[in-house]
Parts: sequence; structure tokens; C-alpha cells
Amino acid sequence: MHETSIIYGALEIAKESGENNNLKRIHKIYMKIGEFTCVDENSMRFVFEALKKNTICEDADLIIDKVKAKARCDYCNEEFEINFTNKICPKCHKHSNNICKGYELLVWQIEGD
Ligand SMILES: [Zn+2]
Repeated sequence: MHETSIIYGALEIAKESGENNNLKRIHKIYMKIGEFTCVDENSMRFVFEALKKNTICEDADLIIDKVKAKARCDYCNEEFEINFTNKICPKCHKHSNNICKGYELLVWQIEGD
């Protein structure tokens, strides 16, 4: 399952960050997930609860920030929200394949003490 390797990676990052900053416990792991990544949030949470046991992240919460997919127009430079079927610039009505947001899949902040 895709989600398992993502969470495994996130816990590794948290562990490393904890060691580098002399943290004893991690309280919060913030992740950014783009809406085009096709990752299932419920599966992520389920896997997180299972894998965090007996680690520095045992009491940590997973906070998921969903990132809206956006494209940048090649003609007028407008940044606009898109979905799988509609990538038309609202200003000049040209089609854009220049997707700049929506594929994020990363740990961007870790809190602990
Ligand atoms: Zn445009």
C-alpha cells in the first residue's frame, strides 16, 4: 500500500529531526498533501496510528494540510485552481498544463520537546 511507505518515510523524518534537535517526544507532524497525489487520508491516519507505536512519535498527532491543485497560465501568468477535467485559465481561457501545485507529499513541520 502506497500510504504505508509514505507514513514510514514521514516517521523516519520525524525520528531524524527529533535526534538532531534532542527531542524526547514528537507531538505533531504536519504534512502537506496535494489533491492530485491520490493518497487516501483515512488510510494515512490508520497507518500512522499503527506505525507510530513504540517510536518517538507514539503520542504524536498527524496534521494533514490538503493542497489545492493549481496551474499557472503560460500566457497571462495567472495562478488558478484546477481539477482533473478543467485546466482552463479563467482570465484568458487558454488551456494550461503548467501544474504548479497539487503534487505535494511532504513533511513540512515537526513539533516536539
Ligand atoms: Zn491566462
